Amino acid sequence: MEMTSWGRFPRIDAVGHTPRNEAALRACVLAGGEKIAHGMGRSYGDSALNREVILTGGFRYFLDFDSKTGIITCEAGVSLSDIIDVILPRGWFLPVTPGTRFVSLGGAIASDVHGKNHHLSGSFCDHVLGFDLMIADGATVRCSRSENEDLFHATCGGMGLTGVILRGSFRLQKVKSCLIRQEIFKAANLSEVIALFEEKSAWSYSVAWIDCLATGTKLGRSLLMVGEHADKGTLFRSPAKTLSVPFDFPRFCLNRYSVSAFNHLYHRRKGASTGEQTVSLDHFFFPLDSILHWNRIYGAGGFTQYQFVLPKAAGVEGLRAILARIARSGRGSFLAVLKLFGKGNDNLLSFPMEGFSLALDFKIERGLFPLLDELDHIVTDHGGRLYLAKDTRMRAGVFRRGYPKWEVFRGIRETHGLVDRFNSLQARRLEI
Ligand SMILES: Cc1cc2nc3c(=O)[nH]c(=O)nc-3n(C[C@H](O)[C@H](O)[C@H](O)COP(=O)(O)OP(=O)(O)OC[C@H]3O[C@@H](n4cnc5c(N)ncnc54)[C@H](O)[C@@H]3O)c2cc1C
Repeated sequence: MEMTSWGRFPRIDAVGHTPRNEAALRACVLAGGEKIAHGMGRSYGDSALNREVILTGGFRYFLDFDSKTGIITCEAGVSLSDIIDVILPRGWFLPVTPGTRFVSLGGAIASDVHGKNHHLSGSFCDHVLGFDLMIADGATVRCSRSENEDLFHATCGGMGLTGVILRGSFRLQKVKSCLIRQEIFKAANLSEVIALFEEKSAWSYSVAWIDCLATGTKLGRSLLMVGEHADKGTLFRSPAKTLSVPFDFPRFCLNRYSVSAFNHLYHRRKGASTGEQTVSLDHFFFPLDSILHWNRIYGAGGFTQYQFVLPKAAGVEGLRAILARIARSGRGSFLAVLKLFGKGNDNLLSFPMEGFSLALDFKIERGLFPLLDELDHIVTDHGGRLYLAKDTRMRAGVFRRGYPKWEVFRGIRETHGLVDRFNSLQARRLEI
């Protein structure tokens, strides 16, 4: 069957295995050949793609929930969306959530996903207590900070390259309402938005939208959105309204003029609504989920998200260099999202480090990859790295500079005999 991930590039022919229980998964792993776990396909590139993939959608049971401690245990194919549906009416919410709820628990652990609260709460795996992992010999091993610690830190953020996560437990946070108090601040340029992030860092959630085509004194002009769980309001949210993009947009629809016009209007419209507002949780965390198949807007050729993080000290200078290069290229991005990260963790390939992370969407077209190669050098020269869950084209050298613990990770893969059993197109490209 044809397979792809969210960016719809690359598209490959693959065999999909659909085990529905642990025994079937074991038989699939022991049958030999290189395979990779595939959750909900919300990674953008080739990290969940291989000639043979193990689809985890059959592992969808909730196993345990302790309403006193907020510790929940689910199978790895359960989506964050399903978890929210079950826990929110009981007064709990995810400790960390990415910008889409259509992500499996296994995918959230394997990418160690981050949210808008990284500066205060860290990434998803910082709240994971443990999980069961099927490794190359078909054994299921318990991994936590005290059991099989090497596999725990390699699997959290390890992009499926250490085996298949079967089930996992993590700690939820308590909330009183399904509403979010939100405030929006306008920043005239990059220095202003960086200062605003620091000034507003006591808010649980923050994220800025940058107009990446603005230049000169307006370089980095942006809107910073901050949010907090409301104390009042119901815990029962109404189902989010959705629209669907019915077909691939023609290639000419996305160009510097349409992106520039969009950015201009967005900046003016959002900037007009200052002061505190109360918005729904779905509106605040998952605005893109309301448009199903929005990835079709980029056309049939697909798109990629370029997401990098720069350490704080080098952040402003590096961001300025990257934004200036993008503005000069005329390649706009509808989405250019800046986040403040707190300290990173001990996981070997987790993406976040203390600093600033910028994510930009680009349509795949001629000339794009050479530009991104140039940006890669600016990122690594400033001590930064790219996010594996979004990557589809980085070179092995760039990966190694950004992830200095890759050798330890590779050593663990070799020790446990995982190298020839669990592989993705990305792992082969990056020689992980
Ligand atoms: C609109 C949108 C917004 C996003 N926002 C954010 C964000 O704010 N922050 C962020 O961090 N990410 C974000 N992402 C990326 C997304 O959270 C990650 O790519 C996540 O890993 C996707 O989960 P999935 O279940 O779709 O996994 P897949 O895309 O199917 O797989 C991703 C990786 O996880 C591995 N994997 C999946 N299941 C298992 C398993 N059971 N055992 C072992 N390995 C497994 C795969 O092998 C692969 O390497 C966003 C994605 C989209 C589309």
